[in-house]
Amino acid sequence: MSDSQISDFVQGLRAGIGRSGPVFVARDPVNPAMIRHWCDAMEDDNPFYTDPEAAARSLHGGLVAPPAMLMAWSMRGLERPADPSVDPDAIDPGSNVYRALDAAGFTSVVATNSEHEYPRYLRLGDELHSSQVLESVSEEKKTALGVGHFVTTRTEYRDQTGELVGRMLFRILKFKPGTGRGASVEGAGPSAAGERPQRPKPGVSRDTEFFWQGLEKGELRIQQCTGCSKLHHPPMVRCPDCGNYELGWIQASGRGTVYSHVEPVHPRFAAFEPPYVVGLVELEEGTRLLTNIVDVDPEAVRVGMPLELVIRRQNSEIPLPLFRPIRPPRRETTLARGAVQVGDELAPCPIPITATLIVATAIASRDYQDVHHDRELAMERGSPDIFMNILTTSGLCARYVTDWAGPEALVRKLSIQLGVPNYPHDTMTMTGSVLSAEDGRVEVGVRGYNRMGNHVTGSVELEFPEGDGA
Ligand code: ZN
Repeated sequence: MSDSQISDFVQGLRAGIGRSGPVFVARDPVNPAMIRHWCDAMEDDNPFYTDPEAAARSLHGGLVAPPAMLMAWSMRGLERPADPSVDPDAIDPGSNVYRALDAAGFTSVVATNSEHEYPRYLRLGDELHSSQVLESVSEEKKTALGVGHFVTTRTEYRDQTGELVGRMLFRILKFKPGTGRGASVEGAGPSAAGERPQRPKPGVSRDTEFFWQGLEKGELRIQQCTGCSKLHHPPMVRCPDCGNYELGWIQASGRGTVYSHVEPVHPRFAAFEPPYVVGLVELEEGTRLLTNIVDVDPEAVRVGMPLELVIRRQNSEIPLPLFRPIRPPRRETTLARGAVQVGDELAPCPIPITATLIVATAIASRDYQDVHHDRELAMERGSPDIFMNILTTSGLCARYVTDWAGPEALVRKLSIQLGVPNYPHDTMTMTGSVLSAEDGRVEVGVRGYNRMGNHVTGSVELEFPEGDGA
């Protein structure tokens, strides 16, 4: 294909720029069943979404939909093969471009950016009317995923009275499968660890084998003296308190806090992939354990941070007792405006990425793209596995920030950019900090990263209620 031909192709794709598509009426009014499905899948427990009594007493006066669901209401459900007789003017300008790109071999798709604005929360019974404008189509670009075009659309959402209730900018990359740096997706995954030497094996003796046997069974055990009941770690031959040789063990709860921590930089050990954190963890039971703190950026580790046990082999023959931050509890009483300061940090929140989470959230957002639920088809499209859809990422960013702020804080804007995908068998950890806070408007910068790097970076703008909040 010559340059001028490519240009003609792009010119054709751009024909619809600026034109508004037809008004699409949501298939269902805003309803509690879809909201509950979304909240279940996202593990979002904000009571104003699902508890009618709490919602009735709230500033909303009744149940509202999670704002990040905006796009879910206008999704068209499971698409049947495109009907060639469909009038192109009757479908969205974006869809027309996607179809033209499909026909030209750009059959794979990933969402890369999304910006939502929520002038008001949706209430039960609202009937959403959306209309889309094609904003831009890029020249052909070489990306890590493959050769493709970025397509940007803007959509406005109005309710049954014509009131503007939402705006969305959405950018996707349509690319040709198999034309990217395949290694950049697969090489960065867990297989890369296989090249490293394994961690040194711990010395297992008669006095310590109960500890290692416990880990094989998914338990963390602490030695306990049968005489004086004192707990000891590391295990000893004889109780240092009463001299007893009869020693048993108890099962630890698996909860603890950071007592101290360090990020070793030099010298490097081949078996340990930097960056990593060595932490002394104080267990709920009182003993301390030297281990690794995982699933968190070393920069975000703080003394006193609550942790939970996660048993993983992690480049070792034997399962190891590692610790990661605990999902921060949801704040039930909304933060007061004056209590929020620029620079405030949100506690890190790890989100285990399972196939169930990816599939359940994709379906809850009515996104039936095969790459979010069908592993074989995802692999045919050049992906090593299914991956999380962008609506879920949006929903998790909103959940993280509102869990921190409290239920009465309103999400007004959510703006995210996607990086590496979230595949199953990984953990995405969210961190955030307050970027600006003025007159009850608070912008929180958020980041979600997995073991390959940043999955999402962006910001969430909140509006706090007037008064003290409490
Ligand atoms: Zn004792």
